[in-house]
Amino acid sequence: MDSKEFKKFREKLNKTQKQMAQLLGVSIKAVHSYEQGWRNIPANVERQMFFLLSRMDGNPKDRKPCWVIKKCPTETKKQCPAWEFQAGELCWFINGNICCGDACMDWADKMKCCRSCKVFKSFF
Ligand code: SF4
Repeated sequence: MDSKEFKKFREKLNKTQKQMAQLLGVSIKAVHSYEQGWRNIPANVERQMFFLLSRMDGNPKDRKPCWVIKKCPTETKKQCPAWEFQAGELCWFINGNICCGDACMDWADKMKCCRSCKVFKSFF
């Protein structure tokens, strides 16, 4: 997530910088820095931001799980943490999913995969 996207999402959440800092558990200075591009946005902050966006009003809570949308075969599901933890609507939140082949080992790799996925795009 870059600084412009961070600001856009904060505004979408209808939060001031101070409110956003409280929600993210960071200082208001950190929020300023993210929006000015002085600091990179850490993975945990990005994850939290996406989580809040996914819970906004207007996002249906009765979504189909990702394995239904993507028609994952049983063998694939058995290896996938989203299936193991029954988190088909929050699959993008969990690391180690196998949607793009091998399990992504870090958040940045995972986000590259998720950002091109229709499940993720349907939220954001
Ligand atoms: S690529 Fe990401 S958003 Fe898509 S199904 Fe896999 S974990 Fe979910």
